[in-house]
Amino acid sequence: MTLTLDLSRATPKAAAPANLSGMTRAELAAALVESGVVDPRQAKMRATQIWRWMHHFGVTDFDRMTDIGKEARAAIAERFTVARPEIVERQVSVDGTRKWLLRTAPGIEVEAVYIPDVGRAGALCVSSQVGCTLNCTFCHTGTQPLVRNLTAAEIVAQVQVCRDDLEEWPSDKADRRLSNIVFMGMGEPLYNLDNVAAAIDIISDNEGIGISRRRITVSTSGVVPELKALGERTGAMLAISLHAARDDLRDILVPLNKKYDIAQLMAGVQAYPGLSNARRVTFEYVMLNGVNDTPADAKALLQVVKGIPAKINLIPYNPWPGGLYECSDWGTIETFAAILNRAGYASPIRTPRGRDILAACGQLKSESEKVRASAQRKIAEAEAPQ
Ligand code: SAH
Ligand code: SF4
Repeated sequence: MTLTLDLSRATPKAAAPANLSGMTRAELAAALVESGVVDPRQAKMRATQIWRWMHHFGVTDFDRMTDIGKEARAAIAERFTVARPEIVERQVSVDGTRKWLLRTAPGIEVEAVYIPDVGRAGALCVSSQVGCTLNCTFCHTGTQPLVRNLTAAEIVAQVQVCRDDLEEWPSDKADRRLSNIVFMGMGEPLYNLDNVAAAIDIISDNEGIGISRRRITVSTSGVVPELKALGERTGAMLAISLHAARDDLRDILVPLNKKYDIAQLMAGVQAYPGLSNARRVTFEYVMLNGVNDTPADAKALLQVVKGIPAKINLIPYNPWPGGLYECSDWGTIETFAAILNRAGYASPIRTPRGRDILAACGQLKSESEKVRASAQRKIAEAEAPQ
């Protein structure tokens, strides 16, 4: 078992140096000045240099930032870091899907999954939290209590590690295999919107990682009050984990439905900034044997999404140890898809990827657990560099 440090509540004795790769350009310049290591008159220039090294060239060491003087580099390195998290485990599926278990801080472990041939070239599924406060009954992550929100740096790090692994630095390299980002890993992104929005600002910046906001999708279980802010702050594409077309069933599958029911959710989606036929919302619908997969369910689904520019993504349920459900059989899924197609909806069936390494949708979970503050301090002391 891995013990976990909840840094959002307890500050370890020796605070870890801040990682510059989680700062927006403005934050980066401000942090350099505040720390006293960079003269305010030079802050913008230094920030631009460091930004380029981190996000264009992918360097993980100040020593490689050769256009910054040696002394200035050393001063910055005393206060800050540009290092990657530790890769605890790297697994590759028979279908080419790659999964990394990253240790971003003492006891904080998250998973990220790269899926080739999804989106324009390949998609990275990133986590926004360790664990989740919600308990969707078909989701493995939902069985892991929330440990804490990930910082912007920890979200950006997942993209950097994937780029390292795919050898895709510098960022303007032709034929990149990482073209899309989906916030469909561990956690509910709309309960961590500040850090998700900052991470999206960083990874979409054209003078860096440069993944367009239109190729970034944020998936939510339906935190209705945050939908407008998500659209306004990030310009990201929206995906909604719908999974049921009736409130009584959705109350069970996605318990957040008891707070924001289907009608409220659809009103929130209709009002999502930038929604149009060219920028459709994706509704995700997990196919659960005998639960939500009949032709009547498909017809009810059509009623619910009526009038909304939408795609419907059917996700065959991915089993996990101890899970309550079974996946619908293939014929049932195809019949369901045909009903949606006849009504004019693109409704691809999402091919399960990476199931053999528990990397498919809803299978992610890390061993991190929340522990008491006293135990956290002990771990931090034990793990602090001597
Ligand atoms: N918390 C967010 C994003 C992470 S979940 C959300 O719920 O949208 C990413 C997607 O995987 C969601 O659509 C989720 O419903 C789906 N999912 C969860 N468990 C699954 C499972 N066992 N099989 C298939 N899809 C699953
Ligand atoms: Fe959390 Fe999403 Fe899993 Fe629901 S489906 S428990 S919101 S990660």
